[in-house]
Amino acid sequence: MTAQVLDGKKLAQSVRLGLKQKIAAFPQIPGLAVIIAGNNPASEIYVRSKAKACRETGIIPYTYRLPADTSADELLSLIQKLNASPEINGILVQLPLPAHLDTTQILGAVTPEKDVDGFHPLNAGLVVQKQAGAFLPCTPKGIIRLLRQTGKDLNGLNAVVVGRSQIVGLPAAHLLLNENCTVTVAHSRTRGLASLCRSADILVAAVGKPEFITRDFIKPGAIIIDVGINRTPDGLKGDVCFSEAIETASYITPVPGGVGPMTIAMLLENTCEAFLKQHRP
Ligand code: NDP
Repeated sequence: MTAQVLDGKKLAQSVRLGLKQKIAAFPQIPGLAVIIAGNNPASEIYVRSKAKACRETGIIPYTYRLPADTSADELLSLIQKLNASPEINGILVQLPLPAHLDTTQILGAVTPEKDVDGFHPLNAGLVVQKQAGAFLPCTPKGIIRLLRQTGKDLNGLNAVVVGRSQIVGLPAAHLLLNENCTVTVAHSRTRGLASLCRSADILVAAVGKPEFITRDFIKPGAIIIDVGINRTPDGLKGDVCFSEAIETASYITPVPGGVGPMTIAMLLENTCEAFLKQHRP
């Protein structure tokens, strides 16, 4: 079997085109604040590509660069200012933050109405309760869109998510549950991981280890979503060994060009949603 490649870049382009047309009819130009503290080179790349994507879609990106030794008070007061600013519809705090800052405290300070990353406890809680109106976190939201591209009925499929981070693994598991998948979340303490993964109709790899998921982890015909972005001496690698997975799976997302572009497209979509919510008559 040779898997079909789920083209995240193409899907993201079509989402972005739709958003651009929608935003062109808005009475004002939406604004997204992007805060980056410190000088993590990978974060710099992400922030630049998010700002570029905003400009191409008709959203103004406001980038705030803070030094690595920024205090919590400085960062919190910037967030308060942005929470109150009418020009800013969405606020994104690029992770990871410098180690001395408390990520939970900082993300919790973003007003839920502008929390376009979906990391505020209120938005995360609404997802768990399957309530409408939450901002869905961008990477998990993009994963669901990619799964829908397969045209498969997701109801009752066994989904295994490897990784339980607050920003990817855990919310991806909740969204899959909301799609009526039967979900198992695996992590570093999971026993018998390969055999567990082989029970998965949908395997989401969010581990952060290059080519960790090999042929032995994959049920023939499974759908493989590779979230990993690992910079190695041989270039960018996913968490899945693509050359092995493509021979066994039915669908697979590539790295790059899979989940990554969808994450950015969902950020733009959430910013557009935030604008509309804030301008509701
Ligand atoms: P984290 O490091 O926060 O989480 C990694 C998860 O993998 C943890 O839950 C950890 O378990 C689990 N894990 C680690 N080792 C093993 C193992 N040997 N067996 C099973 N589970 C293991 O990473 P993130 O969730 O932030 O990111 C995951 C990957 O996704 C990274 O490569 C990151 O770069 C990428 N990423 C990609 C995005 C995109 O847009 N494509 C967006 C965000 C992230 P435990 O909890 O027990 O420690």
